[in-house]
Amino acid sequence: MKIICIGRNYSEHARELKNPLPEKPIFFLKPDSSVLINNKPFFYPPFTQDLHYEAEILARICKVGKSIPEAYALSYIGEIGMGIDFTARDLQEECKKKGLPWEMAKSFDNAAAVSRFIPAEQFMDVQDISFRLELNGATVQKANTSEMIFPFARIISYVSQFMTLKTGDIIFSGTPAGVGPLKIGDRLEGYISDQKMLDFYIR
Ligand code: ZN
Repeated sequence: MKIICIGRNYSEHARELKNPLPEKPIFFLKPDSSVLINNKPFFYPPFTQDLHYEAEILARICKVGKSIPEAYALSYIGEIGMGIDFTARDLQEECKKKGLPWEMAKSFDNAAAVSRFIPAEQFMDVQDISFRLELNGATVQKANTSEMIFPFARIISYVSQFMTLKTGDIIFSGTPAGVGPLKIGDRLEGYISDQKMLDFYIR
């Protein structure tokens, strides 16, 4: 199983990190060892001083596909969930400055918090999903998947030109504006509409 993450997929977030808007989807991978499930606590890693949360809507792939046409791409989404793309922002800035890959900053153990999943057919439109993240009870990120620069169909079609998508693969579809630092003791609660999807602590 692999995790495919899309970078800079919400324009306000690209702006807040002073990144140009992408012309094509930007993607990177997280390994299966980065998955954190069941609302288990996230332990602040010793190699960063600037750990950030990025709340994202997840799509779980339900069948194998390669070079998938956009017109059929949504049939590859079996379930929808919510996740946190934990990012060591200080390490990422270092990597970006040197033009190096980001894995050190984004693919470490537990860097992909993954919620339970909801069958995709329970959503009228996967490009119209409202979600929000609360940090210690205050809303810090709030968006709708209609604001994605590259919608799911485009992401699936584009990424599958390069790598085969397999059953169980998870797409992290990018984070909206409002990312920020975490500290030990913080509580993260994630919602899709009014359904609680995530609720766990930083330890
Ligand atoms: Zn992200």
